[in-house]
Amino acid sequence: MKKPVVIVGSGLAGVTVARELRKLDADKPVVIVSADDGGFYSKPSLSNALAAGKSPAQLLLTPRETLAMQLKAEIRPHARVTQLLPAERAIEIAGGRTPRLAPAGRIEYEQLVLALGAQPIRLPIEGDGAAGVLAVNNLADYAAFRARLEGKRRVAILGAGLIGCEFANDLRLAGFAVDVFDIAPQPLGRLLPPVTAAFFRQKLAAAGVCFHFVAGVVRIERDGETFRLTDNGGGGHAADIVLSAVGLKPETALARAAGLAVNRGIVTARSLATSDPRIFALGDCAEIEGMVLPFVMPIMAAARALAKTLAGTPTDVAYPAMPVVVKTPACPTAVCPPPAGSAGAWREEATADGVKALFEDAAGRPLGFALAGSPAAERQALGEQMPAWL
Ligand SMILES: Cc1cc2nc3c(=O)[nH]c(=O)nc-3n(C[C@H](O)[C@H](O)[C@H](O)COP(=O)(O)OP(=O)(O)OC[C@H]3O[C@@H](n4cnc5c(N)ncnc54)[C@H](O)[C@@H]3O)c2cc1C
Repeated sequence: MKKPVVIVGSGLAGVTVARELRKLDADKPVVIVSADDGGFYSKPSLSNALAAGKSPAQLLLTPRETLAMQLKAEIRPHARVTQLLPAERAIEIAGGRTPRLAPAGRIEYEQLVLALGAQPIRLPIEGDGAAGVLAVNNLADYAAFRARLEGKRRVAILGAGLIGCEFANDLRLAGFAVDVFDIAPQPLGRLLPPVTAAFFRQKLAAAGVCFHFVAGVVRIERDGETFRLTDNGGGGHAADIVLSAVGLKPETALARAAGLAVNRGIVTARSLATSDPRIFALGDCAEIEGMVLPFVMPIMAAARALAKTLAGTPTDVAYPAMPVVVKTPACPTAVCPPPAGSAGAWREEATADGVKALFEDAAGRPLGFALAGSPAAERQALGEQMPAWL
């Protein structure tokens, strides 16, 4: 019997590869192996679900059984892959001790796709409350977070990056008191130049988000049902729930143990092939031509290219410039970073309604942008003028 394409991971990357492959080849056997329950949800919706009035159950877009039928694929849920065996073209799945977990087993593949995602980074925080810090990186985490919010009022968020700021705005809209801590001096430190960041900060502060900058949380203690946080300046803060949003680390352990090339992520060429030509990687776990791009649009582009390759037409991924929208209704914001390694400088134009920042080369050509407030409406038109990323 023909061996299948095996996809490890049922997130956006894994499911989109399978969807795109089915458009090109109706019959190729496909097996999706997933540590989670294998249903499909939109991860970006996790950080604006409160304002959208959505419960965790409503965020599940396609239950596993329906997805398996749509994709004409076998989906193995609750199955954690513990080993890649490239020489044998096989993967090993851990045995489950509870009925919920899939039994141990081995699956042989024709081609293997790693769509393993990324893991939340955990800060080294002292104190007996540190173990109670939550992170949200999938629907199950989110359901647990929402359950913990019941009857609570004060949420502390560690990290004023994209995800921290989106959760902060969403929680404020739902009436929670929100404190956000970051060691950086501004929000969205890696994405926004200073004037744009100051406008963004002021709008979110006006919506009630209480920012603490240059303030890393170093200690968290339990105080009955609540937490007592200490920042690096010695300041004390109380919270009912602590949510960590300090970044994600590509899931590379399996690939590394199997001897595949790994850097920040699982290293792939533009073809999305890893250092083993039968194993491919994409999504949050992958470093494609030196770039780790944990966002929806690059993942969709990579999935379309990889599906063509798996269907028999070797295809490299191409990345046009892809603006990222920050889902903060208090300050509509869009960012299009310049291509990696670009030389240039930011030029920021501020008005009462917002800031338009262009990253320009020495000749004044725009290579990237950051838009906050009403200029965010220009993101599509501006995006089309930006140079391709790859
Ligand atoms: C709160 C939040 C909001 C976001 N908002 C936006 C946004 O507005 N715009 C945007 O562009 N991007 C956004 N992103 C980023 C975007 O959602 C991700 O880049 C994308 O969903 C990642 O998809 P993925 O398939 O690579 O990873 P994941 O969705 O993490 O999927 C990984 C899969 O691998 C499985 N897996 C891992 N290890 C194993 C193993 N050993 N065995 C078996 N299975 C395994 C997991 O169970 C899971 O099914 C957001 C992210 C978060 C967390």
